[in-house]
Amino acid sequence: MTKEKKQHYKEPDELRQILEEVLKGKKYRLDCGHHFTYGTYLGNDITIRNGKHLTITCSQCGY
Ligand SMILES: [Zn+2]
Repeated sequence: MTKEKKQHYKEPDELRQILEEVLKGKKYRLDCGHHFTYGTYLGNDITIRNGKHLTITCSQCGY
């Protein structure tokens, strides 16, 4: 990847901040049918499948 192309990518902290602001205090049913609650240490992790429409599952179902 060229130096110029690398500059198009923002830092992971920015993505983290966006997700934390949006997800704070929220609970969701995922595409796999399992549940996700933001900010719980023993809760499900999530996997986001890229594409035209994002598919969001728990990490167990993401494999
Ligand atoms: Zn699942």
